[in-house]
Amino acid sequence: MDFEYSDEERMVQELARRLARDKIAPRAAEIDAREEFPHDLVQLLAAHGLFGLVVPEALGGSGAGVIAFLLAVEEIARACAATATIHAGQYLGMYPILLAGSEEQQQRLLPPLARGERLAAFALTEPEAGSDVVALRTTARRDGDVYILTGAKQFITSGDVAGVLTVFVVTDPAQGNRGLSAFVVEQGTPGFRVARVEKKMGIRGSTTAALEFQECRVPVANRLGEEGQGFRIAMQVLDRARPSVAAIAVGIAQAALDHSLEYARTRKQFGQPIANFQAIQFMLADMAMEIHLARLSYLYAGHLIRSGATRYTLPAAVAKCYASEVAMRAATNAVQIFGGYGYSREYPVERLMRDAKITQIYEGTSEIQRIVIANQLLKGQA
Ligand SMILES: Cc1cc2nc3c(=O)[nH]c(=O)nc-3n(C[C@H](O)[C@H](O)[C@H](O)COP(=O)(O)OP(=O)(O)OC[C@H]3O[C@@H](n4cnc5c(N)ncnc54)[C@H](O)[C@@H]3O)c2cc1C
Repeated sequence: MDFEYSDEERMVQELARRLARDKIAPRAAEIDAREEFPHDLVQLLAAHGLFGLVVPEALGGSGAGVIAFLLAVEEIARACAATATIHAGQYLGMYPILLAGSEEQQQRLLPPLARGERLAAFALTEPEAGSDVVALRTTARRDGDVYILTGAKQFITSGDVAGVLTVFVVTDPAQGNRGLSAFVVEQGTPGFRVARVEKKMGIRGSTTAALEFQECRVPVANRLGEEGQGFRIAMQVLDRARPSVAAIAVGIAQAALDHSLEYARTRKQFGQPIANFQAIQFMLADMAMEIHLARLSYLYAGHLIRSGATRYTLPAAVAKCYASEVAMRAATNAVQIFGGYGYSREYPVERLMRDAKITQIYEGTSEIQRIVIANQLLKGQA
């Protein structure tokens, strides 16, 4: 495995690190406290080309590639997991078009998304269909050259602010997972509305919306792939996107370690810095070990994608599951190292603990990742 970064990947990492440190980190606590969608930071990321990293130049991106994207996600999450969720959510929304869109659809839809002029969302989850994707109830009925969508989506990242949504629906209820199809729905399409924006525990600057489709007429030209390919497209997208959730988790864990190191060196008890106590040192050492391995796990999945591998379901699920658990442990231990101050909103580590939790839930819970991993093992795909 070659972990040497290209000059472009290194440049993107350094750019993201600088923007995260100078512009994003100073806004993170405020965004969280006000539950404010950071339009300014979206513009900042757009202005620096950070929404087009996996999109070819001919379609408005930079083609810097998946490793550059993952490194950027980690840097942004180290400063603000909500902003990283918006950033990675853009790619989650674009991937169905990139992986399954026709040339016409890609040319029509991707350039403004890659430039960050419009936001994208990925709408799979429904009130009655979370982990069990095949239980989707939103339907699409064909009527000439349109499909009529009816149903509801739940928990859609950027669903209220996105101009372009990739929506997964049932076209043939008798066919199970072969009866799902994917469509692009543009904001403003009659019959589509944002029903609610959730109040959340963490990543409060990232909006999460409940959506409704009532006799929403979508042109046949907006169907991605063929009827019946929706499940396959959704699974391919999740395989591609899960390493970016791992990168968000690593960014949060790294922030927990950064804050813990600084605090342990300066906080004194029993006449000495708490960093002198082995109990604290071991927590710091465990965080560092786990972060190192979690980072390698998302880079490994990214490396497989970059090198054109067709199968990376298992490494993507391993990276997502492991890194999200590392983030949760690191953030919880950071609160422990800060003692009572860790529990106070005056310090950043309580936010990290709230933000870390979502990485174990979205894009498939840790339980679902273990099911995916076990299925791959049992199919001999290790
Ligand atoms: C902030 C946020 C952002 C999100 N963004 C998006 C988005 O952009 N697009 C999108 O489509 N969705 C999104 N989601 C939805 C997310 O992917 C789902 O919440 C998640 O997949 C779990 O589904 P659920 O909430 O319905 O939980 P359920 O599926 O009801 O699960 C409840 C519990 O049961 C467990 N469980 C379920 N089935 C099994 C099983 N077979 N074996 C063992 N345990 C099981 C789960 O692991 C979980 O612990 C988002 C969610 C949140 C909270």
